[in-house]
Amino acid sequence: MTAKRWAMVVDMRKLDEATAKRCIEVCHRIHNVPNFAKPKNPKDAVSPEEQVRWEVKWIWLEHFHNAFPGMDQPHMAERLQHMNFLLLCNHCDNPPCVRVCPTKATFRREDGVVMMDMHRCIGCRYCMAGCPFSARSFNWRDPRPFVQQEYPDYPTREPGMVEKCDFCAKLLAKGQMPACVVESQGALIFGDLADETSPVREALKNNFAIRRKPFLGTNPQVYYIV
Ligand code: SF4
Ligand code: SF4
Repeated sequence: MTAKRWAMVVDMRKLDEATAKRCIEVCHRIHNVPNFAKPKNPKDAVSPEEQVRWEVKWIWLEHFHNAFPGMDQPHMAERLQHMNFLLLCNHCDNPPCVRVCPTKATFRREDGVVMMDMHRCIGCRYCMAGCPFSARSFNWRDPRPFVQQEYPDYPTREPGMVEKCDFCAKLLAKGQMPACVVESQGALIFGDLADETSPVREALKNNFAIRRKPFLGTNPQVYYIV
């Protein structure tokens, strides 16, 4: 599949927590994202503190006040205050992570997807410092013993590499939708923002949507209908 500008809309009215967790599970499974709480071999078990310190995540849940700082107010709807938002890389139009990477290991494609070339990553973590959305994770230790069942279609990583959501670029190349979108039963919408008839444009035309930290000027391309 091709597009001029890929974008995602998360319809929070349709996304319950169980579905959100399934989206996380499928994304992490097909991208061999390690789960430090579940080692393949019990002898590799790590402490809860280490599980937090070494966490690798591509898509995750966060409360409104963490996801949208500066946009909350004391009298906002309770529904929003307690809602867990599904977050991922925003595939920003003006991505600071790309500007600061010294090796061009992270780069923005013509269709807007911000990619990682893991062979070029030298683990300097400048991109992590540059990203204001905490969308990137660093492999502090060997992730392979913490990947329950390796998924053959995606490479595993080594220690010292940064990783993040790539809008399922491998699936798009095969003509398939991102895995989280498929899993979401209609709560996540994906398409070409440049195409007036696309489902993302339809969703944004007919609903009020917000983005994370728009005041920073990165122009995020993941939208949230609240
Ligand atoms: S969310 Fe962060 S990692 Fe993703 S494109 Fe924007 S700045 Fe880069
Ligand atoms: S678009 Fe693909 S890589 Fe990104 S969060 Fe969804 S499933 Fe994961």
